[in-house]
Amino acid sequence: MVDYIADYLENIRDRRVYPGVQPGYLHKLLPKEAPVAPEKWDDIFRDVDQHIMPGLVHWQSPHMHAYFPALTSYPSIMGEMLSSAINVLCFTWASSPAGTELETISMNWLGKLLGLPDCFLNEKNDSPGGGVIQTTASEATLVSLLAARTRALMELAELNPDMQSSELLGHLICYCSDQAHSSVEKAGLIGLVRMRYIESDENQSMRGAKLEEAILSDKAKGLVPFWVCATLGTTGSVAFDNLREVGEVCARHAAWLHVDAAYAGSAFLCPEYRHWLDGVELADSFAFNPSKWLMVNFDCTAMWVKDSTALHRTFNVNPIYLRHENSGKAIDYMHWQIPLSRRFRALKLWFVLRNFGLVGLQKHIRESVRLAQKFEALVLADQRFEIPQQSNLGMVAFRMKGDNALTERLLKRLNARGFIHAVPACFKGVYVIRFTVTSPRTTNQDILDDWNEIKTVASEILMDVFGSENGNIVVPKKPRISLKETRELNATFGTSLLLANSPMSPKIVNGTHAAICDYEQVLTSCAQTFAQLKMEPKDSPEMRRRIRGIKMWGKKFSLDSCMDMVQGMMVEQSLPLCSEDEIEDASNVN
Ligand SMILES: *Cc1c(COP(=O)(O)O)cnc(C)c1O
Repeated sequence: MVDYIADYLENIRDRRVYPGVQPGYLHKLLPKEAPVAPEKWDDIFRDVDQHIMPGLVHWQSPHMHAYFPALTSYPSIMGEMLSSAINVLCFTWASSPAGTELETISMNWLGKLLGLPDCFLNEKNDSPGGGVIQTTASEATLVSLLAARTRALMELAELNPDMQSSELLGHLICYCSDQAHSSVEKAGLIGLVRMRYIESDENQSMRGAKLEEAILSDKAKGLVPFWVCATLGTTGSVAFDNLREVGEVCARHAAWLHVDAAYAGSAFLCPEYRHWLDGVELADSFAFNPSKWLMVNFDCTAMWVKDSTALHRTFNVNPIYLRHENSGKAIDYMHWQIPLSRRFRALKLWFVLRNFGLVGLQKHIRESVRLAQKFEALVLADQRFEIPQQSNLGMVAFRMKGDNALTERLLKRLNARGFIHAVPACFKGVYVIRFTVTSPRTTNQDILDDWNEIKTVASEILMDVFGSENGNIVVPKKPRISLKETRELNATFGTSLLLANSPMSPKIVNGTHAAICDYEQVLTSCAQTFAQLKMEPKDSPEMRRRIRGIKMWGKKFSLDSCMDMVQGMMVEQSLPLCSEDEIEDASNVN
């Protein structure tokens, strides 16, 4: 396995980054039942090579540009190997003392490397602050929201001793920007609290004034603002909320401030990017993913809090079988998180920090940024392309000039060819391809190769559409829209929230198969595959309405939301079509 892993990573460039398989392909290849008798390792492994590997997206490939990086590295893999062999569960100090202490030490190291203020560190036993490794940024956000919710409910309960917490809950409200990650919305859904989205400015940044305005109007309605999530490095465009402004508003209204820096956090190892951290001392919790850009393999989210007692109050259950002589004298990380058990993740983080050193990690971050800037220069030098937003750190969001449909076609064809892989985003109705530099193996030549692939496919598309590879060179003038107008008519509020399948309706661009691949092809092949799975086709008025909505709306939906159509195609009966007047009234709605 060690050899296989090394060969895989050393030769990753040779693999097609995006697989050419269709949904359900593996169901056709593997048996329906688990084996009764033990199987030979060689047989198992042959299936890995023949069936599993061809169905993977190769995230470590230099030609992987989708989402954000999710990197690994040899020291991290070795940490993972050792930790899975010893497999200790570090829920209390006593359950594995070195596991707990190494986590505290590594998190202090990392916090200092980022330039976090001392209040987030845990260098003395009685200091309330400290770091903890959570599984994901989503979980860190939820933990932070729950801790803030507990704090707010306790304060409210003191003022309203006759009210139940369920009644008090209805008064709480929290905030994030319209560019925040969908996991923030999810935290609010789980926490059963109202969430208000603050409209970001023209740079996709949440500003203090808009937040304050919202808080004041909510307070006037008798609501209690208790938690704000600021994003450093948004998923759509790597934009940064103004942390100092937001922090000062939170301080004025005693709201807990959480900072989600999932991707961009790694960049703060380089002092030249720390201007975005200005105001971090005003935050109550801060999290980023070393599992994204810092080459610590998934999962590893570094989270720091100023006041760990707030977590304790939220999560402390203390059954007798978990008490130990040193309870209270040492950190018991089970009180800092939702599950009880936890893996020894500090080992891989510690290996990475030691084996690369600050210098090695900074070099890696700076190289990604340099390569992104190189790519940006290539794009800007070609008059058929444009970059509508400012690019930050290791991501460039670009598009073909002209209609969105051109860029959409470009992306689908690129993904179908499989030499590079990327996903889209959408800003105020403008469709872009996000190009993230991911791999530490990426070279100048890789970037040139990727750009050549993009140019070739773009020429093909322009040839198809306009009969010339320069396309319609008369680029239509951009209509001028005043800022005031956008504010009033911001119909696409929230659309850049990428990869989201959540109920906030305008998120139409997502990372599902249907959004990044050829739509008709996916549906047909799904219908074939799932036809074997014997699902009950439902023909009800409700289903007909949904299908009509999907067909008429012309927007991209996730694969899941199309399952009705797939089912419709399975049972030979034609799709329940709309009648003439149904079409009429559906189009009148828009
Ligand atoms: C990637 C990302 C997340 C989600 O990270 P998970 O660790 O997968 O939960 C949240 N917020 C931002 C800004 C991100 O970029």
